[in-house]
Amino acid sequence: MSDICEVCGLPKEICVCEDIAREQQKITIVLDKRRYGKMMTVVEGINPNDLDINALISNLKSICACGGTIKEGKIELQGDHRTKVKETLEKMGFVVEIL
Ligand SMILES: [Zn+2]
Repeated sequence: MSDICEVCGLPKEICVCEDIAREQQKITIVLDKRRYGKMMTVVEGINPNDLDINALISNLKSICACGGTIKEGKIELQGDHRTKVKETLEKMGFVVEIL
């Protein structure tokens, strides 16, 4: 019973459902260079069902001491805060990758 995946019905050794779910939940951080040399830290792949994106951005803004906005489900922070954002999200239990 425990050896068969409930999602795809395959034996768990060859089932990839969990890998896919983990992959989909991965949050990526990109440093975006804007005009006039401005840097933006863009956080992508946030599932709004997993967390309150408004609470997360105000948390990140205070940790990084910067401004930020939510655009099309992505968090944009002013400046390069990749390391701090990664550490914060990892503490919350997310898989984070800096691209
Ligand atoms: Zn499966």
